[in-house]
Amino acid sequence: MPSAPAPLRDLAAPPGLWTRRAWLGGALAVASGGALAQPVKPASVSASTATRVPVLAYHRFGPTVADSMTVRTRTLAEHLHVIQDLGCTVIPLADLVAWRLGQLPSLPPRPVVVTVDDGHRSVIEAMAPMLRDPRWPVTLFIYPSAISNARYAMRWEDLRELQDTGHCTIESHTYWHPHLVRERRQRTPEDFDRFARHQLSRAKTVLQERMGRPVTHLAWPFGMSDAGLQALAAQTGHAAAFGLGNRPASLTDPVFDLPRYLMVDALGGRQMARLLQQAHSEETRS
Ligand SMILES: [Zn+2]
Repeated sequence: MPSAPAPLRDLAAPPGLWTRRAWLGGALAVASGGALAQPVKPASVSASTATRVPVLAYHRFGPTVADSMTVRTRTLAEHLHVIQDLGCTVIPLADLVAWRLGQLPSLPPRPVVVTVDDGHRSVIEAMAPMLRDPRWPVTLFIYPSAISNARYAMRWEDLRELQDTGHCTIESHTYWHPHLVRERRQRTPEDFDRFARHQLSRAKTVLQERMGRPVTHLAWPFGMSDAGLQALAAQTGHAAAFGLGNRPASLTDPVFDLPRYLMVDALGGRQMARLLQQAHSEETRS
């Protein structure tokens, strides 16, 4: 297993960085509204509507840029330092969804979500050692057909090891990662419906059985979906789905096509700082 850049093993919380427990406690206090469990006050709702959440979508990691989807570990280290230096709070994807669905009234200041698609083995070999801190929750969108099967992919025991860290959540990326929008064009409506339904349901079932927990979030392969697919995601028991779009998620984004930023190696530390500052500054302008 390659060793991680040293400084990241000791990511210390900068002053003022909220711990998950601290802000969740605050959020729950607001949600419960005291003993009478009153509805959330309009003031906190209006503050929340201005929130913008950059969701980062990584794929593979390595010492060199092997392909367009590989981010070097040194670039990832820069990203993590920027996230920390700007006083951002990495929140679980589930909290973003709960907030979008109105189940969580507010998020901590400068929220960021970290996701990694596809289940490449560099996730456990290169990324996981750099993200050991439980304050850095990560969501992995996995297509189960590759796990313990494709040479480039992780094994089920790797996913369980990551899940057991307590800050790594496994979610769905369909069963075998088809380009669903293209498949729709190439199949009859009935055949496509059967195919897409199987991709969504089978992935969810297999992941739930293997990981022993509910799987309700989905990332569209290639970031591509349409209104019919988004409806199907709801019908097959998903609470939210993510695409791409290179903009922060807000309360006005479609629940089944929430945007994420595609992370590539060309996006260095400086560009990441600009990206996050821009995303969060929309928050204050709104
Ligand atoms: Zn993918």
